[in-house]
Amino acid sequence: MKRTNTFAVRPLSETGEQLLRDLLDASAALWNEVNYQRLMRYNDEDGFEGDVWDADTGRLEGRYKGVLGASTAQQVIRKNSEAWRGFFRLKDQYHDESNTSVTEHPEPPGFRGNEDDGRQLKTVIRNTSYTVEWGDRSRLEILVGSELKDRYDHTGRLRLEITGNPSWPEYEKQGRLDLWYDETDSTFRASQPVTVSDETRDAPLADEKAALDIGANNLVACTTTTGEQYLYEGRELFHRFRETTREIARLQSKLREGRYSSERIRRLYRKRTRRRDHAQEALCRDLVERLYAEGVDTVYIGGLTDILGTHWSVETNAKTHNFWAFKQFTERLACTAEEYGISVEVRSEAWTSQECPQCGSTDRTTRNQDTLTCPCGFEGHADLTASETFLRRHTEQAVRPMARPVRFEWDDHDWSESPRSHRPKEQRTDPSTVHRDGNVASGESQTV
Ligand SMILES: [Zn+2]
Repeated sequence: MKRTNTFAVRPLSETGEQLLRDLLDASAALWNEVNYQRLMRYNDEDGFEGDVWDADTGRLEGRYKGVLGASTAQQVIRKNSEAWRGFFRLKDQYHDESNTSVTEHPEPPGFRGNEDDGRQLKTVIRNTSYTVEWGDRSRLEILVGSELKDRYDHTGRLRLEITGNPSWPEYEKQGRLDLWYDETDSTFRASQPVTVSDETRDAPLADEKAALDIGANNLVACTTTTGEQYLYEGRELFHRFRETTREIARLQSKLREGRYSSERIRRLYRKRTRRRDHAQEALCRDLVERLYAEGVDTVYIGGLTDILGTHWSVETNAKTHNFWAFKQFTERLACTAEEYGISVEVRSEAWTSQECPQCGSTDRTTRNQDTLTCPCGFEGHADLTASETFLRRHTEQAVRPMARPVRFEWDDHDWSESPRSHRPKEQRTDPSTVHRDGNVASGESQTV
């Protein structure tokens, strides 16, 4: 089984920190040089012979191996090659009409900052060029190149202190280590892929279930058979996503004729994607840890294909595909859940979003913003109710949410509990706002 340990690391001295920064900065510089050589060839610029793969990476490796060490220089170049191969794969999918999973034209791999504004401090280290020791004082040691070794009068093995405990301290093999500086909280971080034996797998004595309703305004609404309900709100995130998208459009409209992108535009795309990925990653982790603690062993997710034809408006579809990247989110959630021994099953959830839990009616209910109401007297949070109905459909047992739903808001680092308690009536009523948001709740998208 493949797993990943993610942890923060701390240099032991100022010299150590400077050395680490130099190493990460040189890695970013090498990445940029390789990428530049490839991008110029991709764009058919004058003076650059051949295609992307004709760039002379051997010469660059030679120039950087003194600082980085030969193995790290090779890994950085290899990682850039992987990024280009990924880009070509996406581009093929985008142009393949039978494939609808890629809706935006992909961008070629970007640069890791630049010398003037600062580079993104990031490197990658071969599995044989680092060691990790777990224990009371966990530590990471990485090999550095001879030039750095001389510059700092160093042993050539940089030792870093690891904070926190790994999810997978015992493993058979370790993979390539990613090491980077996280500017959002000024911390060096590493992720270490490992292969663990099947016996190591945590097997919680769990048989509880959970069901998720995935949406664009409320990213995840969840009900568990233990009676818990969680709601992760996406409006603020989407608002910022849209602002960045508008800024990209504004910059694009100012491009010289014949130009389709610029470094600034590419940077905004990357920023937009990074922010979303960060929020997704954190959401998966937060949710899965809660479910694990509740003793959940199976999570049901509604399949998007069923939703498309029914109550989702075109705008909402676009919103969920482009902004929240539903498929990617599902895969990420499945990966995180697997670490905890929880299985994720994608099931049809047609109709559950408008079914009244009290009388079972699907055609008499109305949804306004986040509230589902029924002439029988029922009124509740629409997405939470949908996850509840969905859960009931896939479990034999009756589901009775007992606790007050817990709401989470994204603050750029964490999903934290919102001070706002659940009040179904609390909502915006300006219909134009509803429309611009592509809100699921608009009346006309209700009926099938
Ligand atoms: Zn009813």
